[in-house]
Amino acid sequence: TITNYQAPADLLKDKVILVTGAGDGIGRAAAKAYAAHGATVILLGRTVPKLEAVYDEIEAAGGAKPAILPVDLSDVRWEQLEYLAQGVDQEFSRLDGLVHCAGVLGQRTPIANYHYANWQQVMQINVNAAFGLTKAMLPLLEESKAGSIIFTSSSVGLKGRAYWGAYSVSKFATEGLMQVLADEVDGVSNIRVNSVNPGGTRTNMRAAAYPAEDPATVTAPEDIMPTYLYLMGDDSLGINGKQFNAQD
Ligand code: NDP
Repeated sequence: TITNYQAPADLLKDKVILVTGAGDGIGRAAAKAYAAHGATVILLGRTVPKLEAVYDEIEAAGGAKPAILPVDLSDVRWEQLEYLAQGVDQEFSRLDGLVHCAGVLGQRTPIANYHYANWQQVMQINVNAAFGLTKAMLPLLEESKAGSIIFTSSSVGLKGRAYWGAYSVSKFATEGLMQVLADEVDGVSNIRVNSVNPGGTRTNMRAAAYPAEDPATVTAPEDIMPTYLYLMGDDSLGINGKQFNAQD
């Protein structure tokens, strides 16, 4: 099965892949896994020292020289995203993959108590910025022989759950964005678009959501990489508009 997919060492050779939230958690693991399989990765995130640490880890492991894009998605403007796409074009002349891992949990409280400003912030980072970045990078991805876009969703993006508020709604929207774009590119483009529900994964976000849980009992980000590798490499050519669970 895909959760056990064994990626060939050169799966992503010559590909350029942009990963958001690359400084920590699942995004960090994805950036390192892609680099380990031959890709040049572009590390997008908001905390530069974290991105630099991932950069150093990739270089130390013998990966291709990555790039760092410091961006705060909470207030990113369209002009800035267009400018980023121009930068990627100038630096690499291509983009083969875009993986959305950046995200925030927001408040967990009843809708009746949910702060309007927090709601907007969660929707901005988890949905609006992902839309904007995807739109900005689409022309470059269109030029790739096999562009792959991966959205990171959640089980609460498939079925609503009390007190998960904007986070849950943002993940429904993420699935919606994936489906709409997948339908648009279907049969007319070399791009494929899919979403991944990581399942409970040992990260800061998970610890914030489940403070009583022993992190040692939770799946490590490295262990869910088979699905992220499968969807990025050419073994998933033609797979489009599908929702995957990275643990099953
Ligand atoms: P982390 O909190 O470890 O990582 C989130 C990443 O997003 C961090 O690198 C963070 O940067 C970045 N980020 C947050 N806000 C911004 C912003 N404004 N601008 C730019 N980057 C930002 O969480 P996970 O790795 O767990 O989450 C990754 C994805 O997986 C998320 O979409 C999450 O919803 C999803 N997910 C996670 C699950 C889990 O169990 N861990 C389960 C289901 C879904 P920084 O470190 O600098 O704050």
